[in-house]
Amino acid sequence: MLLGAHVSISGGYSNAAIEAHRLGIDAIQIFSKNQRTWAEKTVSPEEGLTFRKACAQYGVKQAFSHSIYLISLGTENEEIAQKSMLSLAMELERCRVLGLSHTVLHPGAAGSLSMPAAIERIGWRIKKVLEATKGNPVKILLENTAGQGSSVGGKLENIAALVDTISSKRIGICIDTCHAFAAGYDIRDKKGIDKFFKELDQRIGLEKLLCFHLNDSKGGLGSRLDRHAHIGEGLLGLAPFEYIMQNFQHVPKVLETSKENDADKKNISLLRELAGKKRKTK
Ligand SMILES: [Zn+2]
Ligand SMILES: [Zn+2]
Repeated sequence: MLLGAHVSISGGYSNAAIEAHRLGIDAIQIFSKNQRTWAEKTVSPEEGLTFRKACAQYGVKQAFSHSIYLISLGTENEEIAQKSMLSLAMELERCRVLGLSHTVLHPGAAGSLSMPAAIERIGWRIKKVLEATKGNPVKILLENTAGQGSSVGGKLENIAALVDTISSKRIGICIDTCHAFAAGYDIRDKKGIDKFFKELDQRIGLEKLLCFHLNDSKGGLGSRLDRHAHIGEGLLGLAPFEYIMQNFQHVPKVLETSKENDADKKNISLLRELAGKKRKTK
C-alpha cells in the first residue's frame, strides 16, 4: 500500500527521503523547485542519482512532484502562457532526472473564456509541452480542483474533456478528496462515493486515476473553498477515506495537510487503521 505525504526538499532533495523514513511512509510528493517563483532550476545527473539512492535507502517507492502554482495554462496573457509552458517542460525534465514518475498539475483557470474554449486552449498548450518533451516518460496528472473562481477541473466532465483533448498516454488524473467535496460532490457516504467513482469511471476511466490527495475539508459541500483539514477533523468524516483505503489499494495516496505537531504521523496511522477495518455491511 503506497501511502505518504507532501514533504519538503529544504536542504536538498535527499532530505525528503529522510523525512519519509522518519514518518514511516513509502510515497511522497515534493515541489522540485521553489514553488513561489518562476526562477528555473536544473538538476544535475549526480543530484538525480543521489536522490534516487536516498529513496532506495529510505524505502520511498513512489515519488510525485507537484508542479508550481504559478503555472497558468488557460491564461490569455501570452507571456505568462509561454512561461507556464516552459515551467511545465522544465518540471518534467527535473522529474525525469530525479526519477519521479509523475507531476501533479492544476489545469488552470478559464478567465473570461467559456469552459469549452478554456479546455481547448489548456489542452493545446499541454500537448505542445508533451511534444517538446517527447521521449520523457514522466506523466502529467491533472488534479481536480475545488472549482474556485473560474478554475477548470472542479467538474469531472471538464477533466474528462481535457483528457480527451490531450489524448496522450502521458496524461493521468489525481483526485483530491477535499477538492471534490468543495466542488459539490457529496462523498460523505457510501452512496455518494460510489456515484462519484462510477461517474469518474464512465467519463475518464479508473485506469487513469494514478494518485490521490487525501485531505479532509474545512469548506462545506459545494463551497468551492480549497481548505484542507486533517483526516477526520473536517466536514468529510471518515467514510470516504475508509472507502479509498480499502478499494483503491493499488493507487498511491499522499496527504497535503498542515504539518504542525507532527500531524502527518497521526493522519497516516489513522488512514492505516481505516485500511484494515472490517468492511461495513450497509
Ligand atoms: Zn491536492
Ligand atoms: Zn487543495
